[in-house]
Amino acid sequence: MQHPLRRNRFLFVASLAALVAVVHPPQPVAGQQSANADEDGTVNAAALMEAAPAEWLSYGRDQAETHYSPLDQINAGNVDRLELAWSWEIPKTGARLEATPLVSDGVMYATGPHSFVFALDARTGEKIWQWDPGIPDERQGGPSVCCGDVNRGVAIYGDKVYAGLLDGRLVALNKATGLVEWVVQTTPPGQDYSITGAPRIANGNVIIGNGGAEYGIRGYVTAYDAETGAEAWRTYTVPGNPADGFESEAMRVAADTWNGEWWVVGGGGSAWDTFAFDPEANLVYVGTGNGAPWSREIRSPGGGDNLYLSSILALNADDGELVWHYQTTPGDDWDYTATQPMMLLDLTIDGRERKVIVQAPKNGFFFVIDRLTGEFISGQAYADDLTWASGIDPQTGRPIETPEARYGTNRQGAWLSPAPFGAHNWRPMAWNPATGLVYLPAQNNVSYYEMVTDFQYTLGQWNTGTTIRGGGGPRPDRPSLTGPRTLLVARDPATNTEVWRAPSQGGNGGTMSTGGNLVFWGSGNRLVAINATTGEELWATEVGGGTATPMTYQLDGVQYVSILGGSTREGPRMWTFALDGSAESPRGN
Ligand code: CA
Repeated sequence: MQHPLRRNRFLFVASLAALVAVVHPPQPVAGQQSANADEDGTVNAAALMEAAPAEWLSYGRDQAETHYSPLDQINAGNVDRLELAWSWEIPKTGARLEATPLVSDGVMYATGPHSFVFALDARTGEKIWQWDPGIPDERQGGPSVCCGDVNRGVAIYGDKVYAGLLDGRLVALNKATGLVEWVVQTTPPGQDYSITGAPRIANGNVIIGNGGAEYGIRGYVTAYDAETGAEAWRTYTVPGNPADGFESEAMRVAADTWNGEWWVVGGGGSAWDTFAFDPEANLVYVGTGNGAPWSREIRSPGGGDNLYLSSILALNADDGELVWHYQTTPGDDWDYTATQPMMLLDLTIDGRERKVIVQAPKNGFFFVIDRLTGEFISGQAYADDLTWASGIDPQTGRPIETPEARYGTNRQGAWLSPAPFGAHNWRPMAWNPATGLVYLPAQNNVSYYEMVTDFQYTLGQWNTGTTIRGGGGPRPDRPSLTGPRTLLVARDPATNTEVWRAPSQGGNGGTMSTGGNLVFWGSGNRLVAINATTGEELWATEVGGGTATPMTYQLDGVQYVSILGGSTREGPRMWTFALDGSAESPRGN
């Protein structure tokens, strides 16, 4: 595929220079990879950097998933002039909004509830096309979903837009018209798989995972040729029945860490959200989910680490082969997924240049891992009231579990923190190279874990093997938490320490950071702008309940900030702001 090289005329040279000075090497952006390849096929990193700043071409803006934009027209000195530029109501209601919009060539692409896909003029908010796959609600026979008919957005590559659908389909739409170019069913019909995550692009393939571990599935990730939809590779995250033979050496190794007949329920390990791509290392990073059932004593009687649950997997981008793995929660018992957003950073740690991957999985610990080798570098608590583990062993990189944590092995229910919601969930973290901080939307919560004694697998039902949905014996009093329910934490990943924190007003949304020394964040019903250095709140506006993740772009010399926000009651809406924007608020505020 050949595309004209997009050159941005509104490049901010100063902020770009600052970015290059701190972050090295620049991470290419998905949609431009083929466009900027030299004749020998190598990617021209300088050209990619030059093309990137004004747009937002992939979920995390870059393939390192930093959710950082160097744009600085809107900055800490003038953000109080931010006003509504336009808004657009999504004509489809359902669950919470979770998508990060993408902007390419002046057009914004995003998704709403029930895998609804749309394209808007990014200058005006005028609709260009919309596409509704018509997936029925779970109550009307639609797919089983643990956590609502949500969707986290699209991928762009060449002349197509890609979306994963709730019913397990991956669809390629024509970027200009929204017409279907190809569609593949990525999941076996009749099983409890679903897709809510945004696809990613790596080496001309569309990477997509799936969810369903609460119901009982076997996790996997698949790469499809972006042009044709042909399957390039599929990599399972947990082993199947050994009697059927193993797909790879990695599955044979993993099977040694399981007991019993785990394949009956499926084992879990669904990769339902996070991916990152390092083109230089040619590695695709995958965050894997929890065990199915949750209770290890039922899933794998007698214990075991149960590879590769709750892990970061580094896969060869060409064939999906496992290169290394790091398990954040060995032998998961608690729905502590490692599907939370990861990012690739180049940091100086203890005087050494390190290429790292950072992640704050559900389990409450912030991990810094060597992204080339999988070597553990550091793991520190980012949540306030953790009771399942007292820390991460600095030598082994394994959690130090508390005596009460293994409620199933102990045959003793226990209140444990965090809860299955996790101390961090799908909400993207952001990085700012000037401050050297990661901005993490965290939460503190606690849940009672108790194993059921009469577990039976039932298709179409939650199969957690716990009393999370009722039943069980009498419970001790719920312990109180010291930390705020939801908050924004700014962490220095080089030292793995907290620098500042800001409490939310209500629910949490995702984050985005900019060259204007700002962090944008969905906090309760509001979009807020925060000083990236100090944590001081500088600006806020109401956008409605269920804020998703902000992003930014620049067109015709104007920088915009956009976010999806608004419940079914208020009307789900795309909100876009600019300095001295002059649109009337649709809600009269
Ligand atoms: Ca789960």
